[in-house]
Amino acid sequence: MHPDPQTTQKPGSSELGPAATRPVPPTLPGDDVRQIQWRFADRYDLQMIVQSSRAAARGPVARLVAAGVRNSHEWTGDKAQLLTVFDEAGITSLFMDPEHGGLIEGPKNLALALAAFEIAWVDGGAATCSLAGHLALAPIKEKGTDAQRSDYMARCVPVQPGEDRKQWRGAFCLTEPLPYVGVDTGVLSGKVRVAEWPEGGEPILHVDKRGRFITNMGFANFVTAAVASDDERIKGSCMVILEETDPGTYDRGVPTKKLVHQLSSTRDPIFSLRCPASRIIGGYTVKDGVIVPNFSHGEIIAAVFRRTRVTVGIMTSAKLLSAVEPIIRYQRSRFRGGTSGEPGTPRWDLGLQQKEDVRHRLVDIWATGEAGSSLGFATARLFDELEPVEKVVEGYFAERGLEGRGQLRAMRKAQSAAVEYVRLRAMPEPKPDQARLDELSADALVPHLVLDSLANVLCPATKLWNTGHGANVMREAVSLMGGYGITEDCPGFLGQKWMDAQLEATYEGPESVQRRQLAVTMTDPVFLAQLESWVPELRAIANTHGDTGSCSLASAIELWRWTLDHLAGAKDAAGKTLYADARQGVTFPMADALCWLLAARQQILDVLELEQKGPDNPALAEALDGYVAFFTDLCHVQAARAAGEVGRICAELVFGYNRHPTWDDENAAHDRRHLSVLEAVVPGISACATGRGEVVEEDGTHAEKHGPCVRFTGYESFVRLRSKLDGCLTGARLAKDRAAQSLTQIMIPEALDYPQ
Ligand SMILES: Cc1cc2nc3c(=O)[nH]c(=O)nc-3n(C[C@H](O)[C@H](O)[C@H](O)COP(=O)(O)OP(=O)(O)OC[C@H]3O[C@@H](n4cnc5c(N)ncnc54)[C@H](O)[C@@H]3O)c2cc1C
Repeated sequence: MHPDPQTTQKPGSSELGPAATRPVPPTLPGDDVRQIQWRFADRYDLQMIVQSSRAAARGPVARLVAAGVRNSHEWTGDKAQLLTVFDEAGITSLFMDPEHGGLIEGPKNLALALAAFEIAWVDGGAATCSLAGHLALAPIKEKGTDAQRSDYMARCVPVQPGEDRKQWRGAFCLTEPLPYVGVDTGVLSGKVRVAEWPEGGEPILHVDKRGRFITNMGFANFVTAAVASDDERIKGSCMVILEETDPGTYDRGVPTKKLVHQLSSTRDPIFSLRCPASRIIGGYTVKDGVIVPNFSHGEIIAAVFRRTRVTVGIMTSAKLLSAVEPIIRYQRSRFRGGTSGEPGTPRWDLGLQQKEDVRHRLVDIWATGEAGSSLGFATARLFDELEPVEKVVEGYFAERGLEGRGQLRAMRKAQSAAVEYVRLRAMPEPKPDQARLDELSADALVPHLVLDSLANVLCPATKLWNTGHGANVMREAVSLMGGYGITEDCPGFLGQKWMDAQLEATYEGPESVQRRQLAVTMTDPVFLAQLESWVPELRAIANTHGDTGSCSLASAIELWRWTLDHLAGAKDAAGKTLYADARQGVTFPMADALCWLLAARQQILDVLELEQKGPDNPALAEALDGYVAFFTDLCHVQAARAAGEVGRICAELVFGYNRHPTWDDENAAHDRRHLSVLEAVVPGISACATGRGEVVEEDGTHAEKHGPCVRFTGYESFVRLRSKLDGCLTGARLAKDRAAQSLTQIMIPEALDYPQ
């Protein structure tokens, strides 16, 4: 994303090792490349949003960070200027539909993700500040009544010339002081009661709610707050809109002493307010004298976080990609000056890049950023695709008068048709039963089930992997800058970005929340059918694009899939079921393993898209081969790492819950037999992870004296799949070497394009 590059090093000077055998990207990838990869080359509206968000980020936001404005917890006048900057850049109204004063017609998930990416490239807190206003409105957008939607959206749109009104800003208030709401959103201490209920009139509510860590609270004019009933005349829980002018207490509370995201305002507010029942988000009905909210707080937050978490994941990936340029510059210029070298010598030209390890680590950082961005933007696009399909389904249910359980029953009935659809769709052309495929795709529920089951996995995967693993990799980025990395002066603000990434892994539900959700959604048969269909897809890619590493991903998916089935039926040494809700030691690592696969697959698909569509853009003509070759190598590096993670996690889970027998002379003989059985299955295997007690004797019995035995035959497939996976890693390190060499040749600008 860097126009007008000026070289700090000419490609080809002081080359490292043998000359590159593949073309090299001339510069860091710019908009031409990203628009194709992330699929907005034909969306002028989104390109404009990218430009305006970037100008806000690399101008006013960067100037505040460089001036040290992050060094205070208070919401200062300097920080507040950012709100106007975001308004003027069109970011505030990005969330609204044109009928409410917004800019973009239709779904906006990709638009919001792109804006967040651009701002987080410089500062995550500033990105959060802009997004928190959208989060406040999200309950109203997703589940609000038409009147609530048009009212609050219109209030939050920036004031236009000639208008005489105050612009409103909001906060989203779910989390409560300890010991109440955090990860567990069910333990609400916020309460709602009926204060007054005039005969035949609208009830007046009294709401008591305390918040913890509430973003935007320094200036929010309203909050959308989660509360539970404290009155037999109100059923269950709901979300309610509280305004600063409502009668009672609207106390913004003390600022949170954050170590991170200092360009957003976070406080612990206290509310004790009266408001009309029409503020219940989504409305209510009255049944037998009881107010029944149309949506519980749980239903609303599920609908909200489903989309907003994707944008948070994108933010951390932006940080990783933003780290590449400052690190290359630091590495290359590390030894310049003094008496130790002169231009043209490797020490001068390459500096630290002479060392293989620093090149390899930067390759890993870059590959992680690519994979996370690919996953995040694909998820955002998927939600854009899903929105109109959801509307079709809503219409279908309304026509048939189906609600609640009736809807669920209809969905369950359509599940096997959706699985059939996915399998037919994946078959090679010409399809064996095109008529049936057409019939299934015309069904109102089938396409919805397919997209929905994928979204239910991709959203938590993006939030979990991009932020959690991203924060770990951000530490690597910091370490490559040496001592500079952990100072305020570090170019690219990498130290702050490392800490900020940890917040992104925490808010809107920490990693445990995403893993819990994945543990359920990744076992959905419609999702699993899609996952299985990716194996032949990736093998086909391997036939034409073996250098992407797609073969290792296909093998890793097969291994993961086998392991999931195995764990669902297996028991541990004490006879307890392995794949169970409470067994987070099993379900959570499986969720982690899946995320690696999802990210690496999408990264490959994006490079194929670049290769295919790149020639349409004349501006890319000469450079395209270099980008495709380099990104292909990054894919291979990432696919190999993903496959390695999956192999490790699956092996630990498959073998790790069996008791290991004692190691003595008698068992040593057994062990030799075990190895010989393994060797028969996998020629050349030299070690055994199962422990000796898990071997079936030649006569078919198993040696009970060695503890609880598992039939070796049950593991044969696993060992074969694992061995295949390892074999598929062929070439991965060569790809890393090539990518590392390219890093020494890519041109970068003379200086960062934002203040330091
Ligand atoms: C700067 C900042 C801004 C924020 N902005 C907002 C906002 O605008 N609005 C809002 O409502 N909230 C906001 N939050 C709150 C944030 O969403 C919560 O902090 C977060 O959801 C975690 O809740 P908690 O801190 O209570 O952690 P806890 O619930 O105490 O969890 C702590 C840890 O325990 C483990 N854990 C907990 N439960 C489980 C479980 N069931 N299974 C496995 N492990 C578990 C996990 O490791 C978890 O990370 C913000 C927080 C911060 C720091």
